[in-house]
Amino acid sequence: MKLTIHGYSTALFATWYFIEELGILFDAGDGLTSGLMSKCGKIKNIFISHADRDHLTGLLQYNQLFSIHQPKIYYPKDAQSFPFLNQFFANFDPHAKGTTWQAIDKNQTIDVKEKISVEAIENEHVVTKNGMIKSLSYKVWETKKKLKPEFTNLEPTQLRALRQEKGDDFVLEELKTNILSYSGDTPVVDYKRYDNSKVLIHEATFLTKAETNTKAKKNSHSSLEEVMEMVSNCTIDQLILGHFSSRYHTEEIDLKIKELVKQFNIKIPVFRLPIGKVSKDILNGNPIN
Ligand SMILES: [Zn+2]
Repeated sequence: MKLTIHGYSTALFATWYFIEELGILFDAGDGLTSGLMSKCGKIKNIFISHADRDHLTGLLQYNQLFSIHQPKIYYPKDAQSFPFLNQFFANFDPHAKGTTWQAIDKNQTIDVKEKISVEAIENEHVVTKNGMIKSLSYKVWETKKKLKPEFTNLEPTQLRALRQEKGDDFVLEELKTNILSYSGDTPVVDYKRYDNSKVLIHEATFLTKAETNTKAKKNSHSSLEEVMEMVSNCTIDQLILGHFSSRYHTEEIDLKIKELVKQFNIKIPVFRLPIGKVSKDILNGNPIN
């Protein structure tokens, strides 16, 4: 499936990604409405990864202008900021009534349109006690029906007869494809979490692993180095990197990406979001490698 992805992602300041064909927004940092403008009207479902302000402050203006489109906002179930926000918005813009807020749990799946669902995956950005869920990654699944292998040799007439006699479910099986994954903010912990994703959008706040280790363990992040090593161990078709720290220049990031692509022998196209700029139709642009 072709995906038109627009986004902005610079650590501390703002992160948001809009997947146009799916009507899905991942995170909603500042600049969401000024970056997407009337395209915001196509947003149907908003999945927020966690309650850090750079991932949600764009909701204020979005809600005021676009709640008429009846969007749904999904958020990690134990992140208390969201019920407060919902209440604040209700008081601040009482005319903006159409938005629905829904807490979601890890492993919960939300149907967003025909054949497309989004699964919430627990990540390790916010360390919590007692299994509380305050930070999520998301996987988008496409479900298609496919002929069961035992029937692929049948002639069309035989197949038609069999379908009429036994029904579609007898001859068809479901094929689920992970068409997109979004890491949100998280350290790299599990090398197989995004295996077989067609497109992976992953954060890379720091360039080197050494830099992540100097940070406090609370609300931890990934380094480009760790992400590239993980990707080299997975089957992924296209990689989008974002959430770089503004301590780096975009040129410096690109050089490091090229170096790591070589080091880990990465053959897939790698895209990155520049520091401080909106990117339109990312997958249609030039990869860094
Ligand atoms: Zn962040």
